[in-house]
Amino acid sequence: MLSIVKGIVELVRGMTITGKHLGKHAVTLQYPEEKWPMPERSRGIVVLLSDKETGELNCTACMLCMRACPTAAISIDAPRGEDKKRRLVKFEVDNTICCFCGLCEEACNFAAIKMAPKYEFSTENKEDLVWDMHKLQEMGRDVPYEPRPKKKPAPKPTPPKPEAGNSGSDTRPVEPPKPSAPVNPGAAEAGPEASEEKTDDTKEGEA
Ligand code: SF4
Ligand code: SF4
Repeated sequence: MLSIVKGIVELVRGMTITGKHLGKHAVTLQYPEEKWPMPERSRGIVVLLSDKETGELNCTACMLCMRACPTAAISIDAPRGEDKKRRLVKFEVDNTICCFCGLCEEACNFAAIKMAPKYEFSTENKEDLVWDMHKLQEMGRDVPYEPRPKKKPAPKPTPPKPEAGNSGSDTRPVEPPKPSAPVNPGAAEAGPEASEEKTDDTKEGEA
């Protein structure tokens, strides 16, 4: 008898949960026709980014990403021209050995390489997974990114204002004026007595 009651309780509980989901949209995705949107920062595949205005690659061929890659999946060839600047002639990513670590994106200072939230690139030939510069650029065309902020020139230091009574750029403190020389240097040297004597003589003469 007790087991029958327990069975009825469980049945009601199950029907209640089923009833809560009635009328809601289905959570089943019609894969592969439908796909879940990937998080923006998910590491799907390596792509190259282009300038939004000119459409040219942001890559400056500095090769930092190639040095940072732990699996040597990136291969770059950029010989210097007559003007000593590097010209990017080859940029390949071998997706068969890429481990999707994202270190190449971390190393790049020019917003030129990114892990895009894309997936499903299986093929029958391994050679098709080695993507060249043009393929990487095409794959990155619709990938949103924040361009690298352009550096502003450093402001020029403003010279300090000259103090009053001190023209030019000399900022040293102004020395106080020296006391003027005595009118009768001899009297000053002789002291106050000589001065008194002279005063007495003068009085006698006047009398
Ligand atoms: S993708 Fe970035 S790090 Fe790699 S070579 Fe180009 S500018 Fe340098
Ligand atoms: S994600 Fe990692 S393994 Fe793949 S190319 Fe970039 S640095 Fe190399």
